[in-house]
Amino acid sequence: MNEQNNMKPYVIGLDLGGTNSVFGIVDARGEIKATTAIKTGGFTSAEAYVDAAVSALEPVIEQVGGLGTIKSMGIGAPNANYYKGTIEFAPNLPWAHDGIVPLAEMFSERLGNIPVAMTNDANAAALGEMVYGVARGMKNFIVITLGTGVGSGIVVNGQLLYGHDGFAGELGHVTMVRGEEGRLCGCGRTGCLECYCSATGVARTAREMLSKTTRPSLLRELDSETITSLDVSIAAEKGDELAKEIYDFTGHMLGEACADFAAFSSPEAFIFFGGMVKAGELIMKPIRDAYDQHVMPIFRGKAQFLVSGLDGASAAVLGASAVGWEI
Ligand SMILES: [Zn+2]
Repeated sequence: MNEQNNMKPYVIGLDLGGTNSVFGIVDARGEIKATTAIKTGGFTSAEAYVDAAVSALEPVIEQVGGLGTIKSMGIGAPNANYYKGTIEFAPNLPWAHDGIVPLAEMFSERLGNIPVAMTNDANAAALGEMVYGVARGMKNFIVITLGTGVGSGIVVNGQLLYGHDGFAGELGHVTMVRGEEGRLCGCGRTGCLECYCSATGVARTAREMLSKTTRPSLLRELDSETITSLDVSIAAEKGDELAKEIYDFTGHMLGEACADFAAFSSPEAFIFFGGMVKAGELIMKPIRDAYDQHVMPIFRGKAQFLVSGLDGASAAVLGASAVGWEI
C-alpha cells in the first residue's frame, strides 16, 4: 500500500441492484467498516436517486472520519460502461431505462470530486474474487454469476476484459441452442445460455419437464407457474429424481459452455457465484463432467472449478469496492 492510500484508507463500494442499492465503506483488507442502503427504484430521475444516495452516505462517511479518508468509489451496476462511467439503457432501472446516465460523474461531483469508477455487476464480482476471494494470485480466470440472469467477468493476463466499448464479457448470451427450438432471451435473441442456466431458466426447465412427462416428483405438489430454482434445489436435496435431472441438465449446459470459453481464453479457473451455487455438487458435478467431455484435449484437466469464497451478503459490495481500488 502506498503512502497516499495510507492517508485515505477507505473506498466506497456500491452494489447497485434492480431493487436495492447497498453501500459499504471498505478498507484494503476487505473489511466493511460501515454500510447503508436505499431502494434503487422509486425515483423519477437520476438526480433524485443520487440525492437520496448521498443523504444516506453522509452519516456513514462521518462515522469513518469524513470524506478526507475516502480514496475513491467503485460501483457495480447493470449496463454500466467502464470507460464512460455511465449506465446505459438499463431495462430494470426506471431512471436509466431510456437513456444514458453519467452516474460516476454525478457521484464524484457530490462527494468532493473523489474518483468514481463503475462496471457491470459480474465484472465487479470478478474483481472482488481477484482482490479478496478465491482468485487471489490468479491472472486468468472467468467468474460466472448465476442469478436472475447469467453474467460473466473475464480476467486475462491479470486484467479485466472490457472490450473496445466497455461492455465485453457477456458470456450469458452465447448461443447454446440454435434454431427455432431456442428459448426467447431477454436480450432479444434466442437460445442464449442465460435462458437455460439462470434461476428463471431453471424454473422454466422444471415447468417443461413437468408438463412433458407424468413422472412423479415433489415438484408436482407446487403450482408450476410459480416454481423457483430454490424449490428445485430443495426437492433435489430430498432425493427427488426429476429435480436432480433438472440440475443435471443445467450443469451440463454450463459445463459445455465452459468448454467453449476455455478455447477462448484458457482460464486457470472458472468461479461460480450466486444463489444457485448453494446447490453445491448437484450443480458443480455435472458442470465438471460436461466440461471434461466437451473441452479440447489440450485444455483437459487444467482448469479448476471453484465456488465463490466471498460471503454472499457482502460479496457484491466488496466487488464494487474492488473497482474503486483499481483507480
Ligand atoms: Zn440473450
